[in-house]
Amino acid sequence: MIDDFLGGTMNAELVESWTTPLPRECLRCYLARVLHDHGCDHSLRWTTRWRASCAPSVAAVLRHARCDCALLAAGGASRGGTPAPCAGVTRLGSTRPCRRWPP
Ligand SMILES: [Zn+2]
Ligand SMILES: [Zn+2]
Repeated sequence: MIDDFLGGTMNAELVESWTTPLPRECLRCYLARVLHDHGCDHSLRWTTRWRASCAPSVAAVLRHARCDCALLAAGGASRGGTPAPCAGVTRLGSTRPCRRWPP
């Protein structure tokens, strides 16, 4: 965890930029990335954040799971180590995972 690495004195601005979804980053890669670094607090805070910047018109995404890690697990994510970079969604605003993920 990066938080531990920095001794818990992580700069809020840095957290802000690291947890901002990348352009065309899919929800699943985003969750894999931020949960890897920051963990789940058993809410949908990361999913809410991704949706706000990537798919504000899609409400259904928040109804799929009770927290971020449950949503990611439901997508079949069980690989360890640092998540690979997102391959990019084909359509902006799409909630579908990129081609890195099995259908
Ligand atoms: Zn969780
Ligand atoms: Zn992706």
